[in-house]
Amino acid sequence: MTTDQHTGHTAAALLETDEQRALRAAVSALGERYGREYFERVRRAGGQTDELWREAGKLGYLGVSLPEEHGGGGGGITELSIVLEELGAVGCPLLMLIVTPAITGTVIARFGTGEQKRAWLPGLADGSRKMAFGITEPDAGSNSHRITTTARRDGGGWVLTGRKVFVSGVDIADATLIVGRTEDARTGRLKPCLFIVPRDTPGFSRNMIEMELSAPEKQFELVLDDVRLPADALVGDEDAGLLQLFAGLNPERIMTAAFALGMGRFAVARAVDYARTRQVWKEPIGAHQAIAHPLAEAHVEIELARLMTRKAALLYDAGDDAGAGEAANMAKYAAAEACAKAVDRAVHTLGGNGLTSEYGLGSLVTASRVARIAPVSREMILNFVSHQTLGLPRSY
Ligand SMILES: Cc1cc2nc3c(=O)[nH]c(=O)nc-3n(C[C@H](O)[C@H](O)[C@H](O)COP(=O)(O)OP(=O)(O)OC[C@H]3O[C@@H](n4cnc5c(N)ncnc54)[C@H](O)[C@@H]3O)c2cc1C
Repeated sequence: MTTDQHTGHTAAALLETDEQRALRAAVSALGERYGREYFERVRRAGGQTDELWREAGKLGYLGVSLPEEHGGGGGGITELSIVLEELGAVGCPLLMLIVTPAITGTVIARFGTGEQKRAWLPGLADGSRKMAFGITEPDAGSNSHRITTTARRDGGGWVLTGRKVFVSGVDIADATLIVGRTEDARTGRLKPCLFIVPRDTPGFSRNMIEMELSAPEKQFELVLDDVRLPADALVGDEDAGLLQLFAGLNPERIMTAAFALGMGRFAVARAVDYARTRQVWKEPIGAHQAIAHPLAEAHVEIELARLMTRKAALLYDAGDDAGAGEAANMAKYAAAEACAKAVDRAVHTLGGNGLTSEYGLGSLVTASRVARIAPVSREMILNFVSHQTLGLPRSY
């Protein structure tokens, strides 16, 4: 390690502080105590990773990015992405870390009223409460400007009508943060407004979607049928527009990158372990370059994506929402591609065992696709980079 004589900082500390590295090690140690076997056991039993969630909450990891005055750790998305990546790297990727502290926690911390912050943030930080996030609609899909969930004023409150799809964790969340639009801004470019909808609100119903994902968290189709909400269900300003939505969406992309990176690291580590010892000819299979090089390549691509994720988190935590947007998109893209490739290669490395339940890699084949689709597909990121970064003409 190189040490700067004047500042005493190590070169590595430019990328990650001592505290951040200590956080990585501590989270990894927690995750190791549970491990992949715990995650798989819970999933097979149709349960949730409640014990791990609660312990991570108690240790301050879930709330690491939330404000200190409301029970959080006062850190940034950098720290939260470290938590998710390290848990994923030991086989316990917690999807709700993306949705609860990163999206809904950030939006409430940045735009919520004092009362909303007091009501929600301490519980989101210590893990005793969860909040889901619903923006995707069946008829809008990737084109969020087409969402039609509508909020109309009703006396002092609001009435929400609409449909959502693929919303994760609604059954285990105390409430869902729903993205809609007001009646006055029902068509045209999206001017989003966000509402906290408690799980058991009359008119708010859910239907589980059967997925092939092998994850504890489930996805739901939601119907909002004249859901009556009080005035204080609205988070932020109904006219604030895309800015307050993006306050939550950039962390979502950075965290999805961390999710993919953790999973990719887990897969490569399992494959490397196997390739070191599995012997069918004279040498272990890892000595064959046809096995070693694909794993080395996967490792390189994960490391490159980690760097981009670090950049995106750094920009976001520094308050550069616009700069973070481009970097977060690129990080999510790179991490998702690296993860899908890493899992593909890891599964192949194990031969038949790549698909056995005992080795637990086969189920990652579908799970590793998620980051290429959600929260924004790889094609929409390539569109963004084509138009916004490169200045190419739009196709739509
Ligand atoms: C496991 C999982 C969890 C999810 N969790 C949540 C959640 O908690 N909350 C939530 O709101 N949503 C969630 N989603 C939804 C997710 O964000 C959407 O699936 C995603 O935005 C894509 O939308 P779509 O499925 O409607 O695909 P579509 O928009 O129908 O796209 C289908 C395909 O067409 C491509 N395509 C579309 N338009 C273009 C274009 N202009 N140029 C090039 N290609 C294009 C897309 O890239 C994609 O490959 C989740 C999805 C999954 C799979």
